Amino acid sequence: MTAVVVTADRALVEGVARGPNAVLAEDGAIVLVGDPAAVLADTRAATARRIDWSRRAMVPGTINTHNHSFQSLLRGIGDDLPFLVWREQALYRYSPRLDADAMATAALFAFGEMLLHGVTTVCDFYYLNAQANDNAIATIEAARRLGMRIVLARCFYDWDGAPASYRETVPQAVANFEALAARYQDRQRFLTAVQPAPHSQHGASRAMIEAGAGCARDAGVPWHIHLAEEHYQVEQSLARFGARPLHAIAALDVELARMIAVHGCWFDDSERALLADRGAALAYCPGSNMFLGDGVTDLVDLVARGVRVGLGTDGGCSNNRVSVFDEMRTAALLQKVHRTDGQAISAETCFALGTRTAGEVLRLPIGRIVPGYRCDLVALDLDDPSLWPVQALEKNVVYALSPRAVTDVVVDGQEAVAARRLLHVPIDEIQARVAELTQDWGRA
Ligand SMILES: [Zn+2]
Repeated sequence: MTAVVVTADRALVEGVARGPNAVLAEDGAIVLVGDPAAVLADTRAATARRIDWSRRAMVPGTINTHNHSFQSLLRGIGDDLPFLVWREQALYRYSPRLDADAMATAALFAFGEMLLHGVTTVCDFYYLNAQANDNAIATIEAARRLGMRIVLARCFYDWDGAPASYRETVPQAVANFEALAARYQDRQRFLTAVQPAPHSQHGASRAMIEAGAGCARDAGVPWHIHLAEEHYQVEQSLARFGARPLHAIAALDVELARMIAVHGCWFDDSERALLADRGAALAYCPGSNMFLGDGVTDLVDLVARGVRVGLGTDGGCSNNRVSVFDEMRTAALLQKVHRTDGQAISAETCFALGTRTAGEVLRLPIGRIVPGYRCDLVALDLDDPSLWPVQALEKNVVYALSPRAVTDVVVDGQEAVAARRLLHVPIDEIQARVAELTQDWGRA
C-alpha cells in the first residue's frame, strides 16, 4: 500500500472554496479529505509520503473529454482556411505520413502541454489507426510516460473519401478494438481506458456505427461519435437518412445511454430532449466551435435538462489551446453572449463541466475530491495576481486564471508536474522531437 498526503492552504472541494485542506490517498484512491491536522492524525497517514502545497490552492484535476493528439503537430499550419481546404491541404496531406514514433511525439507534445495546464485526464479520439493498434499503443504509452490518465477513444472509420490509413473494415475495427481493450482496460486504477468511437455520420457507415456501439455494450463502456458539428451536416443527414443527426443515430441498433455525442452545435429542441430522455452525454468543445465558426451548442438548455456534459479542447489545430480551464471560461462567455444574458451560466457550473460532470461523461471515478475517487489534483499559485482577491477563488479560477498559476499536478496520487515542470519527460526532448518531425512542414 502506497499512501500520500497532499496539503494546501486553500481548496475547491465539491464546488465550495475552503481554507486549509488535506487529501489522503492510498494506491491512488482518495480515502480521506478534510482539515490538515485531522487528516495527518489519521493512522493511515502515519507512513504516508507528504506533498506540501503551501501558498497554493488545491483543485480537482481537469478532464479533457475530446481531443485529437496528433493535431497539435498541425497547429498554425491550416488556420483561417475553409474546412474542406484545411482538410485536404493540412490534415490529409500530413497525417498519413505519421508512423508510431511520430504519434508518440505528437502525444508527448499534446499531453505534456495539457499537463502543464492542469489536465489530468485526456480522452484522445483516435482515428489514425492504419488497420492496426501500433499508433494507438504509442499514444497510450506516451501518456503513461508522462504520468497522465488517458481514455483512448479508438475510432471506427470506413468512409472511402479519407486516406487509407484512417479506414478499416468492420471486422478489422472490432478485432483491433477488442485487442487494444484487452491490453489496456485498467479496471483497478483506471489509468488507461479504451472506448469505441465510430467517427461520425460521414466517416462511419451504419454497420460501422452499430459495430462500435456493440463493442461498447459488450465492454460496459461509453462510445463516442461526432454529431451535428456544422450546419451542413444536418442538411446531409436529412438528405441521406431522412432525419436530423441524433434521430438518425437513434434509429440504429445502438444504446444512446452509453453515447457521448461530440459537439452537437446544431441539435434542435427535439434532439436535446432525446439526449436527456435517453441519458446520453455530450463532449462540448466551445473553443474549437468558435475557432472553426461551427455554431453554438445550446449548453444552457442541456444543463437545465440534466444532460451530462464535459468540456473538450478538440485538436490542437482547431482551438488552438489545450487548456480545460480555458474552455471553462470560453463556455461561459460564449453562452452569455449567445443569449445576451450575463447570468446565462455560472462559473461554478462551468467548473463542474471541466471536472465532476466530465468524469460522469467518461464514466470514470475522477473529477471530484471525495473518498472513492482517484487522487487527481492541481495546485494553483495563490501568489499569482490572476487569482486575487483570493476570497473569490471559485469565480477567479474560471474567469481570471492565468496558466502561469498552474504549478503542480498529481495524477493517481503521483506527481506529474512540480514547480511548473514535467517530472517524467524532459520538455527539451519533446521540443526537439517536434522540431525534427515538422521541420519541412509548411503552411497549407
Ligand atoms: Zn473531434
